[in-house]
Amino acid sequence: MKLVVPYIGELQAEDARLVRLATFLGICCDPLPLEGSEVHCADFWEKVNPDRLSCLLVNPSVFKKCLGESDLPESLIAVLRSHFAYLIVHAVSTDPFDVNMVSKLSQGQLQAIGQIERASQSYEIAQDAKDICGAFSGLHFGPVNLANDLVFARGYADSALRPLISIGKHLFMAASRQERTEILFLGAKEVAELDDQVGDAPLTEYFSRLVPHVMALRHIFGEECWRPNADRATVIIDDPLLRQNYGFINFDSMVRLAREYNFHATVAFIPHNFRRSSPRVLKMFRDNPDHLSLCFHGNDHTGAELASSDFIRLNTMLDAAERRMGIFRNRTGLDCRRIMVFPQGNFSVEAMLVLKCRNFEAAVNTVSYPTDEPVRITIGELMQPAVLRYGSFPLFLRRRMDNTQSHDIAFSLLSGRPVLIVTHHDDFQRPQLIGELATRVNGVAPGIKWSNLASAVRNSTLTRRTPDGTLHVRAFSCAVQIDNDSNRAKRFSVEWPRSYNEPIAIDGVLVDQKPYRNFHANEHGITVAADLASGRSQVFSLEYRNPYKSLATLGFGWNAKAYLRRRLSEVRDNYLSRNRYLSVVARKAQRFASTLTHRNLSKKQNVLL
Ligand SMILES: [Zn+2]
Repeated sequence: MKLVVPYIGELQAEDARLVRLATFLGICCDPLPLEGSEVHCADFWEKVNPDRLSCLLVNPSVFKKCLGESDLPESLIAVLRSHFAYLIVHAVSTDPFDVNMVSKLSQGQLQAIGQIERASQSYEIAQDAKDICGAFSGLHFGPVNLANDLVFARGYADSALRPLISIGKHLFMAASRQERTEILFLGAKEVAELDDQVGDAPLTEYFSRLVPHVMALRHIFGEECWRPNADRATVIIDDPLLRQNYGFINFDSMVRLAREYNFHATVAFIPHNFRRSSPRVLKMFRDNPDHLSLCFHGNDHTGAELASSDFIRLNTMLDAAERRMGIFRNRTGLDCRRIMVFPQGNFSVEAMLVLKCRNFEAAVNTVSYPTDEPVRITIGELMQPAVLRYGSFPLFLRRRMDNTQSHDIAFSLLSGRPVLIVTHHDDFQRPQLIGELATRVNGVAPGIKWSNLASAVRNSTLTRRTPDGTLHVRAFSCAVQIDNDSNRAKRFSVEWPRSYNEPIAIDGVLVDQKPYRNFHANEHGITVAADLASGRSQVFSLEYRNPYKSLATLGFGWNAKAYLRRRLSEVRDNYLSRNRYLSVVARKAQRFASTLTHRNLSKKQNVLL
């Protein structure tokens, strides 16, 4: 199926943006030049779409340009309604031509196009619209976008009209089924540009220019376009030692909470603490793999340790972190998954490269940009599971508890991003809030799977089926899990969108940790083809060579200061966090220790270089 996009002279700006969005979603677009008179002719449309399977993009201003000032003939409306399986009507205005076109195409179900009355109004997504609106179905949120949003007034009541998104008593998005054609009406004046830099802006700033269009395209093109493979979620708890009590965390209570509210908590573990865990808490992790797991959280968790731009220091640090967690695994039988959660949210592009060539699977952070390079990520980057701009190593984004509204959860799932929620020990002062958030996530996506962080990112892929039946998987994490849940063998093509010119060359691909030769690397990325028998599951991972040197140790000075800093942090979390005055004193002491660490390291670097 194709998206047919009529134009006169050149594509209208909003149509060109919709074409870019559709292409991004893997949809084949077919621009259709119009000259004028032929639009009336049924034979012309028959030739354009002989099998009557395609979708026509209807921008009323293109047809107005085509017809001049003449009226919109009924014959044209009849041809459009009968020659396409789907129509998307978008980029509307309050111009009488647009109103007339919408009214005629909807057979009077929609009568007028108007401005929004109040900025305080919100979007109300229909409860019974999961098939089109996905996880947004049933949600209310706002404010609306006064500059962009127009609404349709309902005409006569008809069961063929499906309200999808309402604003007040009017419709912002609706679907109308007429004989063999389904028409989707969108009230947005504009379509979002994928390169728009939105950074951390609230979703409501761009929702109406993007999400209804994605919903309409995915509804129409189904498995032919890129869509999320699975809904995943993880709560990440930063910093705690694995002891019965850490700050406000009590591990017994936490496991009970995770079981009661059905969520999974991954502890972002500081490798510095590798010998300091309580046997009882370690047993709790071994006994509850569905609710508790571990991932990396820096090495010593000193101030901005992974924001360094020094490849040798970063490589030495990560070498130490991996060695520590290797000893931890041998002593405890617990695996620390190769996902890096950056301490204090600080990281550098160099750290992303070193993580990549040490074959970490992904990084996770609350902030979407490196510490010394504040940039605003784009809509296109938010519309996929992970950000790849930093050395082509995947950065999965997480959100704070107080910044995770239902519509944020729904948008993550629409984009294929796992729902990752950051917590600290002090959030456990009111553990019921964590339970309520898990309930909110489960309410928005009843089928969501809570899992450890590695499993969440490994399964956060996009999939698309081509006419030959091959399931294409777009992978973001350096390791992905592919499952064949069907009852017959299936062909998969797994592709990692990686730049050909990226600084670290791929060394090979592993399947279930064994070398796999059937892969191709070109300017578009790395592709692996595989046939999986029914019920089989395999993990495909990228292997990189590590070109960076490392030192035997970061030095006595660094280690001593790291030791001091960790102990001060623990005193703060365990004893002082309930006392505001003492807490301020502790933070100052910790900053002082951090300054000493940096000074000491700078001297050491000068000697080394
Ligand atoms: Zn931390």
